[in-house]
Amino acid sequence: MLVERMRPFTSTIFTEISRLAAETGAINLGQGFPDTDGPASLLADAAANITERGVNQYPPGPGAPSLRRAVADHQRRFYGLDVDPADVVVTTGATEAIAATLLGLCEPGDEVVAFEPTYDSYAASVALAGATLRPVTLHPPHFGFDDDELAAAFSDRTRVVLVNTPHNPTGAVFTRAQLTRIGELAVAHDAVVVTDEVYEHMTFDDAEHIPMATLPVPGLAERTLTISSAGKTFSVTGWKVGWVHGPPELVAAPRAVKQFLTFHGGAPLQPAVANALALGDDFYATAAADLTRKRDLLSAGLRSAGFDVLTARGTYFVVADPRPLGFDDGVDLAWKLPELCGVAAVPVSVFCQSAAAVAATRPLVRFAFCKRDEVLAEAADRLTGLRG
Ligand code: PMP
Ligand code: GLN
Repeated sequence: MLVERMRPFTSTIFTEISRLAAETGAINLGQGFPDTDGPASLLADAAANITERGVNQYPPGPGAPSLRRAVADHQRRFYGLDVDPADVVVTTGATEAIAATLLGLCEPGDEVVAFEPTYDSYAASVALAGATLRPVTLHPPHFGFDDDELAAAFSDRTRVVLVNTPHNPTGAVFTRAQLTRIGELAVAHDAVVVTDEVYEHMTFDDAEHIPMATLPVPGLAERTLTISSAGKTFSVTGWKVGWVHGPPELVAAPRAVKQFLTFHGGAPLQPAVANALALGDDFYATAAADLTRKRDLLSAGLRSAGFDVLTARGTYFVVADPRPLGFDDGVDLAWKLPELCGVAAVPVSVFCQSAAAVAATRPLVRFAFCKRDEVLAEAADRLTGLRG
């Protein structure tokens, strides 16, 4: 009965692997969610909004004024962006922001350029919009793109270029030069740039998160919609409080559509997230330092278990190559791994559309490191069993 365009999307790899992990009792490093709660002040604030302040009815249309203001303040504080709170639309997570944006901007037959492996909701949202995905491969081991391949993905049907940096699932962080190249092509083809910056505060070593809206490419900021959410930054992935901002005529598209996807939700959570966005620099610095340590812990564990590890420069995921251990198919390995050693991971190739990208990522598996240190240590220990 399901409409044809949704038939490839009946389940998600996260649902499948989380179920497998639960059935086998494996440590779940597949689906990315932290195993500790976010800042205590955020949790207490949300609880008080529910039980003491009565913030339990529909929030105002485009979102709580305090959150829209806080998003604008955050964009100025971290990136020097000048955002009018009136141009911020609060959404049910970044997922809804992406879906509402694509549904609101794409006519059937329009094309959406995105970098593969792509986060799984992209292909489904593009399909829902009746548009066509034009994937550009990020090549292992560094997950950069080829300039000619990028240029070839654009056409006179390109409506949107969807850019996720820091990038899930590869852990890549796009450089200024890469983002500038993407921006120039978007301008040349009169395409809208939609950025997914949900991992904006999760970069390591010398990697820097650069919002495309800040680049000095003439005409770029005027055609850019910026999306982020609270889930990763504040370790509340189940809250689904996200936002999108951009020039008024562009942000009008997701604003119109999201009213009829969910109307508006998360009333008690929105003002709490507003306060959290204003947390001090120490919160953001500590979160990044903690994740750097976790990345190093799991990467070292994977290496000593015999994997080749592809360095993560951002997000909370690390991609590993199991070929030194004798495995050359990541899908096969991800399904066996819980049984083999009590750890779950997700295959990378399932996030790819083109045959070339599927082939390039075939052996790879992704591990999440947003877990307590002792859990990562236990997972590393279990993974050493793979050599056996
Ligand atoms: N984009 C990317 C790249 C993600 O990893 C995620 C989280 N799974 C999302 C969007 C969705 O964010 P949210 O939970 O706020 O909907
Ligand atoms: N963003 C998370 C991940 O990539 C989980 C997303 C989901 O479960 N839909 O692992």
